[in-house]
Amino acid sequence: HYRCRSAFKLLEIDDKLCVLRPGFSVLDCGAAPGAWSQVAVQRVNALDAAVPTGFVLGVDLLRISPLEGAVFLSETDVAEPSTLRAIQSLLPLGKADVILSDMAPNATGIKELDHQKLISLCLGLLDMSQSILKPKGTMLCKFWDGSEARLLQNRLKEQFQDVRTIKPQASRKDSAESYYLARLYRGK
Ligand code: SAM
Repeated sequence: HYRCRSAFKLLEIDDKLCVLRPGFSVLDCGAAPGAWSQVAVQRVNALDAAVPTGFVLGVDLLRISPLEGAVFLSETDVAEPSTLRAIQSLLPLGKADVILSDMAPNATGIKELDHQKLISLCLGLLDMSQSILKPKGTMLCKFWDGSEARLLQNRLKEQFQDVRTIKPQASRKDSAESYYLARLYRGK
């Protein structure tokens, strides 16, 4: 009943590393078609009246079909400067405990170019985290391996106490995708 198989990657990561907890506010970047948001809604308790109740906000360039327990900003570019204010206005108190990014630019087939585009998206998100991520917060972001991965990792290490690289079993073996899980945001 998940909208996309990608759900199993987040389930696997969360089962192992407890990224999502009841009551957390989550920003899900590149959320379409909505499978990660489905997982997040369950794990943060966004639907239940039970306390603590979490919150899920998904953003994507594409349209996302409504999902109970989640709020979506469809047809919205995370990299667009005006998006920050829209996100802040929708998050409870303007802040998130966790930023998820499964974003992927349209692949050109030129590996190095696709890699760089995705790294830029992640770096942009890291800039945005300054305004919306709570101290001690978490960022989980997908990247494609390549020459600039180390640069992103180093930037994450400057801003988070704990940064690790994850390659979920559920990721296809032939794909160059991995995730950085950055925890304990140092904040400002
Ligand atoms: N995690 C999603 C799920 O489980 O349903 C799948 C995400 S899919 C692999 C990647 C998404 O990133 C695409 O829907 C794409 O439109 C989105 N995306 C790429 N660049 C983006 C940007 N600049 N802003 C917002 N979304 C973006």
